[in-house]
Amino acid sequence: MTSGKMIGDDVALVGSEELSGSGDCHVYAIRYAPGKFCLIDAGVQSATQIIQNITDTFQEKRWEITHLILTHAHIDHIGAAHEFQAQYSNLKIAAHRWDQGPIEGKPGTEGLTAASWYGITYTPVKLNILFSKDEENMRLGKIKLRIFHTPGHTPGSISILYNHPSMGKILFGQDVHGPFMREFNSNIQDWHSSMKKLIALDADFLCEGHFGVISGKDKVRNFINSYLKQHMRLG
Ligand SMILES: [Zn+2]
Repeated sequence: MTSGKMIGDDVALVGSEELSGSGDCHVYAIRYAPGKFCLIDAGVQSATQIIQNITDTFQEKRWEITHLILTHAHIDHIGAAHEFQAQYSNLKIAAHRWDQGPIEGKPGTEGLTAASWYGITYTPVKLNILFSKDEENMRLGKIKLRIFHTPGHTPGSISILYNHPSMGKILFGQDVHGPFMREFNSNIQDWHSSMKKLIALDADFLCEGHFGVISGKDKVRNFINSYLKQHMRLG
């Protein structure tokens, strides 16, 4: 296991299959103020390793995770949320209201987390912040994150844009690549519109949920377009 990887001076990749544990999605950390972190997704069950990676990567002695943004309700993104909640008593967990049911463990929504694929039981968490608009802002200290509702992979999938003062536009798109399954309530037409919205953002970096960091406006656009071509041909 290696520690995380800095993407910029205040953004790092701190979790993945290689960095934290089997089955983990890519987990990103934003240091929005000294000692204050926001995580993008939680991984499946490796909070301890992710916390160690943040310590190693950012080299801060005293710090806390104050916010956890869940991009959608799948177990590889939300499984460890309850572990972070247990460690950080002030943690605020945010997600879109259309994925609230499975994240909060409403009866009958278990299948929407895909936990059975991983052979584990999901421990639900209560959401503190619910996104509900097509686009809204989330302020963290002096920085502003733009939250876009990008349904398709799941009904409540979101993407997050951080307009970084020196690096440019960093887009946390997570599961841009799909897949699309009836059991997730996926909708390929919604996804198509969502991907067009992401392309129009003209991001400099795409932080993807399973493919890591894609750098450069052309590469980001080509990456999204390659999946659009692939899935719309099938669709
Ligand atoms: Zn997913």
